[in-house]
Amino acid sequence: MIKHHPTPALLLAFTQGQLDSSLSIAVSAHLEHCECCRHQVLALQEASAQCLDDDCELETWDDEDMISAITDEDYEIHPKQSMPLKLHLKGQEYTLPRALQSVALSNWLKLGKLARARVDLNEGDVHTNLLHIEKGGTIPIHTHKGFELTVLLAGEFKDEFDDYVPGDFIWLNDANTHTPFTEHGCLCLTVANNSMHFVQGISQVLNPIGKLIY
Ligand SMILES: [Zn+2]
Repeated sequence: MIKHHPTPALLLAFTQGQLDSSLSIAVSAHLEHCECCRHQVLALQEASAQCLDDDCELETWDDEDMISAITDEDYEIHPKQSMPLKLHLKGQEYTLPRALQSVALSNWLKLGKLARARVDLNEGDVHTNLLHIEKGGTIPIHTHKGFELTVLLAGEFKDEFDDYVPGDFIWLNDANTHTPFTEHGCLCLTVANNSMHFVQGISQVLNPIGKLIY
């Protein structure tokens, strides 16, 4: 059962279209797994539609405005490389969240049992990745200088706090130290705004892992 959900404030911001692409995609990915949050979003959408009905005057367009909008030469469509709906990794097939199907994905980079592909959203310090961990894989104990959001898409992992199932929406910050481990392997969507900080061991050895994952 999913135990970790976006906060009500985050769901409200999602409903109002106020989230950056990274967080919006992460919330969408959660909603595909979580009926409870889908109901909340529907209720919020209905409430805001009600507000619009109450105070909104309909904008009217005359024909000329419409024609000039359509024939404007500055208007170009930039086709984006679309992602496959299914991924095959290490003999396992994964279905990607619908929210990821129209965004570009970089090639996979691999280090040990970890592999990641960057989701190309161009959000500066905020990096979004697909992270695959092979069975028996772990990420050494670490904390974060900023935030780290993980949405488990498939498989399972556990850390010092809990065992997670697909759909779990796990938001950690610099107060949280953890050591994720997966017995059978997992695929996650991660959003982070800073590289991780390893708590133990030789940082020179662990640094490439931090760079791979961030
Ligand atoms: Zn939920």
